[in-house]
Amino acid sequence: MKNVSAIFGSMVFNEAAMKERLPKDTYKALKKTIESGQYLDDSIADVVANAMKDWAIEKGATHFTHWFQPMTGITAEKHDGFISPKDDGSMIMEFSGKELVRGEPDASSFPSGGLRATFEARGYTAWDPTSFAFIKDGVLCIPTAFCSYGGEALDKKTPLLRSMDVINKQALRILKLFGNTDATRVNATMGPEQEYFLIDQADFMKRRDLVYTGRTLFGAKPPRGQELDDHYFGAIKPRVAAFMNELNEELWKLGIFAKTQHNEVAPAQHELAPVFTNSNVATDHNQLTMEMMKKVAIRHDLTCLLHEKPFDGVNGSGKHNNWSISTNTGLNLLDPGTSPRENAQFLLFLVSVIKAVDKYQDLLRISVATAGNDHRLGANEAPPAIVSIFLGEELTAIVESIESGSAYSQKSSENMTIGVDVLPKFPKDNTDRNRTSPFAFTGNKFEFRMVGSASSIAGPNMILNTIVADVLSEFADKLEKSANFTEELNKLIKDTITEHKHIIFNGNNYSDEWVVEAEKRGLSNLKTTVDALPKLVDDKNVALFTKFGVLSESEVHSRYEINLENYVKTINIEALTMVEMANKEIIPAVVSYMKVLSDTAAQKKAVSDAISVEFETALLEKLSALVAGAYEKAGALEAVIEGIEASGDVTAQATYVKDQVLPAMDALREKADALEPMVAKKYWPYPTYGELLFY
Ligand code: ADP
Ligand code: MG
Repeated sequence: MKNVSAIFGSMVFNEAAMKERLPKDTYKALKKTIESGQYLDDSIADVVANAMKDWAIEKGATHFTHWFQPMTGITAEKHDGFISPKDDGSMIMEFSGKELVRGEPDASSFPSGGLRATFEARGYTAWDPTSFAFIKDGVLCIPTAFCSYGGEALDKKTPLLRSMDVINKQALRILKLFGNTDATRVNATMGPEQEYFLIDQADFMKRRDLVYTGRTLFGAKPPRGQELDDHYFGAIKPRVAAFMNELNEELWKLGIFAKTQHNEVAPAQHELAPVFTNSNVATDHNQLTMEMMKKVAIRHDLTCLLHEKPFDGVNGSGKHNNWSISTNTGLNLLDPGTSPRENAQFLLFLVSVIKAVDKYQDLLRISVATAGNDHRLGANEAPPAIVSIFLGEELTAIVESIESGSAYSQKSSENMTIGVDVLPKFPKDNTDRNRTSPFAFTGNKFEFRMVGSASSIAGPNMILNTIVADVLSEFADKLEKSANFTEELNKLIKDTITEHKHIIFNGNNYSDEWVVEAEKRGLSNLKTTVDALPKLVDDKNVALFTKFGVLSESEVHSRYEINLENYVKTINIEALTMVEMANKEIIPAVVSYMKVLSDTAAQKKAVSDAISVEFETALLEKLSALVAGAYEKAGALEAVIEGIEASGDVTAQATYVKDQVLPAMDALREKADALEPMVAKKYWPYPTYGELLFY
């Protein structure tokens, strides 16, 4: 048994390490910076850098890097040695405050969506002292934000940090109105439940589609799928258990609170959930978790697939984004609490979230829009592309009674008076809780379930923080001005419910009836990334981002471009991979098998005309027709791919890809998947679904 407490955080320059290694004054100054975001004096930065370097070297580090999160959605790092030459030919290990605080990676090839013309390709990275530095593979990693020289955000962290400040400020205004003056900071908190698949590494290497795109582009349904539902929470196989143990250990070293692990619904699918923390650190940790999952898998001859839909017809992977807001005094603002005052405050925050989600349905949808997630949203296992809120029966009854002014339960004939009566306790973990809702209240937090497994959670949380801050700010404006706080509060809560209750839905989100019902209610249903993304630059959304300074107008536009470009590129690569696999692997395999069949038939005939070659002939006919079809569809797909660039600007290209390329890919797949069960195993060029999922 490992000594978890000795391992935990051992590779993190955390508060304990800082306290131990920094002079008292420096520690205090740094702590102040961390808590208030104040600028750190250069001389202090030097002291911190030096202590960090000594600590890192003791732990075996030789290099440092500014670790950042460009718009690619994954992390980037460029390593520099601590090593520095001396005049006498020897060397010293150095790391200055300047190097800690600011870096200049050659950033010209990161996506900027037109923000950074190539002639000023330089960007810079700036230390984020609110997320601890850590050591990974012998490199001291310093979490940083990544910006252009004009100060525009080129990364996912910068807007997230801005959004955290915005919600902090607006939530504090509300708290003050309720007489809470102890809290000096409100943090958005988040705990992501990460789903993933593990498959055998040798099998992975045999599939160009998995290697190039992370998902299977071909593959007939196996005789056995997930229909037995025996994998969910099932016993964990020894090889997977060994992987999980090592993964936990690696994450603990990095100070990541990996806590829950279990098998998921699909065969070979698993989940890991950490203990929640603030959205910035949670995002950094989730990026590291995904990276470690891939690395540790390799050590066990496994490959970790983080793609949203690696296998057609089998459940995909998501990331449940558990979100709440808490004060630095430990009060969770989405916890109903126990007193009438806490209850009233809770109800105001609750209706703020309801209003925000309703008003910005499109932004939440956009925050999870990727080519990969399009295969999942609206498909059988994931919430649909329609955003709605699950509150549960009890809370819905309360909300309804507040709105109508009638008694809230059969038990009592009284109606609830906000700020006077006490709310009942809501069960946190009722078993019948709705797993189909895209946005569910789960006792003291909301669970946003549309996020794709491979995505950074920075985007969804930046959106959540900003949209809720927007409503809080509007409410604070009203309440601060009102002569009678209680009266205004009651009216505000009641009116908000009336205006936005159409977003609340406790039924089955996967049913066809809901799609019809949602349309009646006027809820938006943005089925694909191409439908959703253009809404990002709608006036109302640009106004939101610029009002709070979370994104400037040019940053909004650049993000729109980058995301669309990403969509086009992803599908382009997938389509090219399909053509290559069809021409170089599938068609030749079928031809080889057909040759065996026709040789057999010819040999039979050579022996005696009386021997029947009926079966060879019949099979040959079928194969021949199908392989000709595959050849034709591969050609058609190739032709369609060639048209992508000529179809226009990136918006036109995305539409073209969705309307022309995706259907051509499906047509080719259909032929290949029909061939797969008919061709001898020995000739088939890649492992089948059955082999991949039941390794
Ligand atoms: P499940 O939803 O699977 O039943 P839990 O509700 O216990 O599991 O927690 C799921 C995730 O929600 C965990 O990562 C947990 O840390 C996170 N979580 C719990 N409370 C909060 C909170 N106040 N803010 C953000 N995340 C939270
Ligand atoms: Mg959950």
